[in-house]
Amino acid sequence: MDVVPQEPAEGIMKLGSHGMYRVACDCGCAGHDIVIDVEPDEDMVTVEIWATVKSEWWREKFYVGGDDSESLRYIKRCANSVYNRLSLAYYALVKGYVETETSIILREQQAVNFAEVLLKASRAHHETPEPSTDDRQSSENTAA
Ligand SMILES: [Zn+2]
Repeated sequence: MDVVPQEPAEGIMKLGSHGMYRVACDCGCAGHDIVIDVEPDEDMVTVEIWATVKSEWWREKFYVGGDDSESLRYIKRCANSVYNRLSLAYYALVKGYVETETSIILREQQAVNFAEVLLKASRAHHETPEPSTDDRQSSENTAA
């Protein structure tokens, strides 16, 4: 079965009349959602992405072993958390940027809907606007 874009689109929420959309992560955690701003321009489409990125919270500077006592594991986890946050702050201070990553889980239908948002935005720039109802009425009046 082919998956076709939907309207309204599952997992994609249009924000206002401009090209902004909230793309929901399929895991259900709103903290994983991304907000995109799709701006068509001449022969390209600019996509701005807002996402919450996290420190490398899983990285262990101080190995937490199964043989460690519960209190030692707690201390090592706290030390790892502080170390990872300080590393981020250090890189931001020294390099002027930090490298992080984020990901979002999309089901096939959501991915197709997401792609359709980009396609529509890229086509929007090349389409000529349809005449408004007022324009059609005024041209009918002049013809008669
Ligand atoms: Zn998620």
